[in-house]
Order: sequence, then C-alpha cells, then structure tokens
Amino acid sequence: MYSEKISEEFKKHGIEIGDRISIKDSEGSNEGMLMPRPDVSKSDIIIIKRDDGYNIGIKYGKGTKLKRVSGKQHAAPEKRDSAKPQKGLPKVTLLYTGGTIGSKLDYVSGGVKALTKAEELLAEVPELGNIAELEVKQIMSVFSEDMTHMEWKEIAEAAAEAINNGSKGVIVTHGTDTMHYTASALSFMLHGLNAPVILTGAQRSSDRGSSDAFMNLICSAYAAGNSDIAEVVICMHADSSDKECMLIRGTKARKMHTSRRDAFRPVNNSAIAYVSINGSIRYNSAYRKTTSLKEKVAVKSSFETKVALLNTHPNSSPEMLDFLISKGYRGIILEGTGLGQIPINTKHSGYNWRSALKRAIDAGMVVGMTSQCLYGRVNPRVYSTARELADLGVIYCEDMLPETAYVKLGFLLGNYGKEDAEKLLSKDLSGEITARSETEWKSDI
Ligand code: GLU
Repeated sequence: MYSEKISEEFKKHGIEIGDRISIKDSEGSNEGMLMPRPDVSKSDIIIIKRDDGYNIGIKYGKGTKLKRVSGKQHAAPEKRDSAKPQKGLPKVTLLYTGGTIGSKLDYVSGGVKALTKAEELLAEVPELGNIAELEVKQIMSVFSEDMTHMEWKEIAEAAAEAINNGSKGVIVTHGTDTMHYTASALSFMLHGLNAPVILTGAQRSSDRGSSDAFMNLICSAYAAGNSDIAEVVICMHADSSDKECMLIRGTKARKMHTSRRDAFRPVNNSAIAYVSINGSIRYNSAYRKTTSLKEKVAVKSSFETKVALLNTHPNSSPEMLDFLISKGYRGIILEGTGLGQIPINTKHSGYNWRSALKRAIDAGMVVGMTSQCLYGRVNPRVYSTARELADLGVIYCEDMLPETAYVKLGFLLGNYGKEDAEKLLSKDLSGEITARSETEWKSDI
C-alpha cells in the first residue's frame, strides 16, 4: 500500500493501479503505468512502469502533481469468447509448454509471470477456433531456459501421440530462448513424421499491444492445419510487421535477437515457407512432404547428457576439457573460430589445447567442430591448424549450427554406439546439413 497521503491523492484524481499516469515535480515529468508498491519500497515512492519497460520510483513531495492520462493499458481483453472447437476444420493439437507466449504482465512485480492455464491464452485468440478444430493440452508450464532433455522427451511423446491419434498437425507453444534446441531435439527424436510439428512463441507477452503472440499462433494454426510439411519447423514473425510468419526448419533455426519479433532466422538455409495472417502459404524452398502412407510416428528419445558445447576464444583454457574428461564426458561440440580452428599451436602452454584434445580423443570422447561464425561451413582443408585437428580425430560438422550439433551428438550417443555416432555426426539426418549452404543472411536485423 502507498502512504495514506498518496492514496488520497490517487482517489482525488480517480487513479487506480494499472492506469497510465503522469507525475510532474521540480525534477521534470514522467509518464507510465502505475504499479503497486512493492513491499521493499518506501510508502512515499510512487512506482511507474515507463514505456521502455523499466520501473522507476518517484518520491512524492509537496510540489508533486499527479494526473490520470488513461485507463489500464495492458489488461488482456476480457470479453472475448474462447476458441470453440468447430467441426469440419482440420484437427490440430496445441501442446502448451509455457514461455512468454503463455505469460502476462504481473501488476505486483512489474515483470511477466506464467499463465497457468492454456485456456487463458486461447481466450485471447478466439480466431483460432475458425482455423482449426483445436485440441489444447497443457503438458507443462516452464520457461524454456529451464527445459532439459526430459522435457524434450515429453514434448516428442505428446506430439507423436497426437499425430498417431489423427491430428493433421501439432503446434507447440514454447519459450523462445531455447526454442531452437527443442526444435532440433524433436527433429531428431520423431521418426516417420508425416505431419507438420510447429513450434511457436512470443517475444512480447499476449497482454501487450505489440505482442507477436496472436499472429504467431494464427499462422501456426494455418500451417499445422493446411500445410503438407512433414518436418519440425519454427513459426515466428518474418519481419517486424504483422503481415506474415516464416516457417524455419527446426535444425536450421536460431534466435538472433534478444527482443525483436523477427528474432528467429534460418541459418545457412532458406525459409521453408511464409504464412500470411490470412492463411495463405507461400512455399519458398524444398521440404519433406507428407505422404498417404499410414506409418505411425515413433519416438527415439534417449539422450546422452555427458555431452558439452564449448566455445574457444583467445585466452581460453584447455583445463575445461580436462575437467570434462575427468567427469567421464562422452562427447563435445567445439564452437571454434572461423572455418573451424582452436588454439593448438600457441607457444603459451597454458593456452594450448593440443594435448588436452589428444587426451579427450584417447579417452574415447567424440569431438565435433562447428563455427562460432554460425553462417558458413567449417572446412578442415584450408588452414593447416584445421587439417591437424581433423588428423587428430576431430569431426567437422559442415554447416551445422553449434546448438544443433550439440543436440544431435547427445541424441546419437544416447541412441547408438560410439562408432555409429561418429559416422552419423557429419551426415545429414534431419536437414541439419545442406550440401550447399543457402545463405539467406540479413545483415540488417
Ligand atoms: N526466457 C523465457 C523463455 O524462453 C521467456 C522468453 C520468451 O518466451 O520469449 O521461456
């Protein structure tokens, strides 16, 4: 609670928590949404959330002038009907896992908090009911930074079950931070996939005017219900406008921006398709198509957790590798520099990775090389360092993204023996390696 004096002032001006207000004092003027007073703050400090997202506290004093600018700005539309299942539309299953797409602004903390019911999300996008006969299953409610291979398994099994029970497609609503890891994991785990599995999320929560949740969900529903893509894809804004989404192959997608709505880009690959908000699908590059075969989807979900993703950089220490060897790690993906180099020729012994790398390979570790450039292809034939690394037994992972290679190696070591894992790491299984990299690269994002 604010102080008695401030509460009286609020009353006088018809101001309530959540309203947009302006505060003027000798220091200047500020506008934003009135937040409740956190327990830790003094009762004469008024907290507002500014448009840039930051909360600021302004001391209320004699000369402070308050004004109510407008009513609650961020409240979710309350009087919208939930998506009602309609007959005759394609059957689509929506698996709800959490993330910003399932979050709301919390008026108490000023942050975003998870919605606990999938229905709360659907109530805000009733349009979905006109696109697909939607079955919603909340299988978890977690932010994606907290996901593990155990959640990947749960999602893979729920997706397979939905398709095997007749769903035309599956939507997985997911936090965006690690969505590309999950997309890769599902791409490797789902076998005999004959339907689209579409991961989608939001960079801004659904109760904000600028939220991308609505269009991402609508485009995902169109793609899940009407496309003939038999792959795992990510469906997010194609650019910063609200016109269309991009479908990006799950093993070739990466979150490239912390906050932009078009943060996900295909790397070394073209978008598979663009889906407009009106439902038209414009196919853009080759993809695996659904067939009339009635094979059941199977899930291979074992995962070797003793696999690491390691970035080498100037001054990086090979002790990290020795630590992993001592812990019994079975695989490592190196995120090397440029075409796939790590420091094995420096004269400074504490920074030279050569002998630790030999120890790792002698201990039976599978070592894969990717590039921290992300775009382009690693190549052991250009520089002598990379040639030496390949001779030591490092496997060059072509144009695979480091995160995808990490997930793939965990999957391979979890489901196959070491020799097969070594052979398969540099072979394309789920579109993760292209014969010739397509460079759809936007330097302006
Ligand atoms: N960090 C959270 C997550 O990845 C929220 C971010 C988001 O969903 O965009 O789940």
